[in-house]
Amino acid sequence: MSELHKFLFDGLPVRGVLVRLTDAWTEILQRRASNTTTGAYAPAVRDMLGEMTAAAALMQANIKFDGSLVLQIFGDGPVKVAVVEVQSDLALRATATVQPQVEPGATLSQMVNVRNLGRCAITLDPKTKFPGQQPYQGVVPLFDDHGHAIEKLSAVLEHYMLQSEQLDTTLVLAADDKVAAGLLIQRLPMAGAGNLAGSMVSKENEDQIGLNENYNRIAVLASSLKREELLTLDVETILRRLFWEESITRFEPLVGDTAPRFACNCSRERVGKMIVGLGREEAEDIISERGDIEVGCEFCGLQYRFDPIDAAQLFVDAVQIVSPGTEAH
Ligand SMILES: [Zn+2]
Repeated sequence: MSELHKFLFDGLPVRGVLVRLTDAWTEILQRRASNTTTGAYAPAVRDMLGEMTAAAALMQANIKFDGSLVLQIFGDGPVKVAVVEVQSDLALRATATVQPQVEPGATLSQMVNVRNLGRCAITLDPKTKFPGQQPYQGVVPLFDDHGHAIEKLSAVLEHYMLQSEQLDTTLVLAADDKVAAGLLIQRLPMAGAGNLAGSMVSKENEDQIGLNENYNRIAVLASSLKREELLTLDVETILRRLFWEESITRFEPLVGDTAPRFACNCSRERVGKMIVGLGREEAEDIISERGDIEVGCEFCGLQYRFDPIDAAQLFVDAVQIVSPGTEAH
């Protein structure tokens, strides 16, 4: 079963999160495999999306935030878009748009960064927004400071965390056809920083980047975790092998009902709005061509079918919403 564990290194400004997605991950893969239009993911795409899913769960679990965290890669290669959404309660869904097929053993840049134009975006979309509030979004390229393509998703995200939060972060990610897993180690903001002015906090944190010996030692230990170990060993064994010389405080693990799990929040209402967005003419064209409008959810595979009467009703409803109280019918 899927599980997520948080822990602190006693007396040190370092925290960690470890996630293993099993049933949550295989459900995403099964739903994709049973989609007759797309078929199953190629192994290289599957592993990239699995690493993204583990990373997004780690990042959501690591922040205090009520809303959805969306991790996206906009590729310039065969993978056009890969997206993972994780809600505050760790309900998650993921999908990728791939065209044409990806070769076995393809690297990250062969999939999403062929001409160095690929981008990775992280969006925090609050559940309740004040009027006009936009979701927060940060975007990083898929190349390093010297313009060289980065071949590990973990390195892309470490770069993002350093830029956006001024915090050293170490990520180890791995995925296959059964498990998507990840380990995050992060340096905490300086103790007592809460008493200082905002600008001072950020300055002091910046000065600490790369210099905290305790963080550096633990980061080296974390980085020694091999892909195979992360995929096959249980959480207790991983933590004991890596950090047996450190003193760790564990939090109550998120397992069972509170564990990360697959859930899709698509709805007939939302699909209806999308059809209205196409415009009446376009919708009527589709209906005269095929007799109905059918839209499949890319995340869960659910099919939404609108016959001519349903579709006509969508536009009637839309008019009433747009102009309430005027020209009553
Ligand atoms: Zn869905």
